[in-house]
Amino acid sequence: MKTNQKCPKCGSTDIVAGVELNAGGANTVQLEVCRKQLGGLVQPVEARGKATAYLCRQCGFVEIYADTPAQFRNATA
Ligand SMILES: [Zn+2]
Repeated sequence: MKTNQKCPKCGSTDIVAGVELNAGGANTVQLEVCRKQLGGLVQPVEARGKATAYLCRQCGFVEIYADTPAQFRNATA
């Protein structure tokens, strides 16, 4: 979808690139990886980065890519 501008679900080429993910406020949603301990305690964020979405206008399917995936290379959830 990112590279060929074609929806993998319905085959449509009516794709909107660069759709922002928004939590309803002024800030764009970011991807975060937090390591979890036994017992459910959450450690500080190990990696954080922006994401860009691609939206199919025919079926509504949304595909999301990290803008800088390399910064998650050593992060584990
Ligand atoms: Zn589609």
